[in-house]
Amino acid sequence: MQELLNNIVAELAEETERGKVADYIPQLAHVDPSQFAISLATVEGERFSAGCATTPFSIQSISKVFTLTIALGKLGDALWSKVGREPSGDPFNSIVQLEHEGGKPRNPFINAGAIAVVDAIMMGHEPKETLGEILSFVRYIADDNSICFDHQVAASEMQHKDRNASLAHFMKAFGHLRHDVDKVIGTYFHQCAIAMSCEQLAHAGLFLASDGVNRPSNLRVVSPQRARRINSLMMMCGHYDASGEFAFRVGLPGKSGVGGGILAIAPGRGSLAVWSPGLDKYGNSLLGTRALEMFAQRTGWSVFGH
Ligand code: GLN
Repeated sequence: MQELLNNIVAELAEETERGKVADYIPQLAHVDPSQFAISLATVEGERFSAGCATTPFSIQSISKVFTLTIALGKLGDALWSKVGREPSGDPFNSIVQLEHEGGKPRNPFINAGAIAVVDAIMMGHEPKETLGEILSFVRYIADDNSICFDHQVAASEMQHKDRNASLAHFMKAFGHLRHDVDKVIGTYFHQCAIAMSCEQLAHAGLFLASDGVNRPSNLRVVSPQRARRINSLMMMCGHYDASGEFAFRVGLPGKSGVGGGILAIAPGRGSLAVWSPGLDKYGNSLLGTRALEMFAQRTGWSVFGH
């Protein structure tokens, strides 16, 4: 396995077409696109990494998996009255479906859906408490208390909030948001600004690979049914309007972020994190996707067979 990861890193190091870093969040525009990392945490407790796997990066939309998990823990199936669970076929920051569908976002992984999810988590709490809850959860599943928000990234997004603020205002106009728009998107920007390394992220995703149980602690995070459902949402919606393409090429539940990270789950086997900051036109990591495709092809770890 270690050799396989080393080979993937070596093969992709030669690649000159690396995609384009997200520059609509100015703080992310400074990230060096030549960085690359991959980590695997297996359900048996093994760890393998190659590249700069201890370098923290902005997890961005990968955080939506964690806030969805928290929201399901709090609301259970009542969450589905606030957000749907169908792929959108539209870009992550699209507003068009919201109008046709009465302000209810299609799924928890597009921006509108994640904003609705965080609004649900905030119920009965001050924004600061919600942020504390999100960070504690991520630290718990990654078993690492050094994980933090990158406040500069959060501030950078707040300064360029118009698009996400529009989504939030639009949902609020339909009665789909309870809290003040700036408070909700401020919380959302902070969850996206959590900085984690591939090693930390692979560990954090492990409960989804092992029927809801964290490893090596063996502590239950969610029920097996909930883990299965989160995985299927990642498969169907985790890469926005390129989710079909990701399923076709990789065949694993995955969630991308515009920081260039991807978390992919091989149920029963392990959790994989990759990071390459350059993005494709859908906002998904170009080489990160390629690396996962190589991994799935060489291991046969796709959920659809070899
Ligand atoms: N924080 C980013 C945004 O709202 C998250 C988008 C992403 O990672 N796809 O635009």
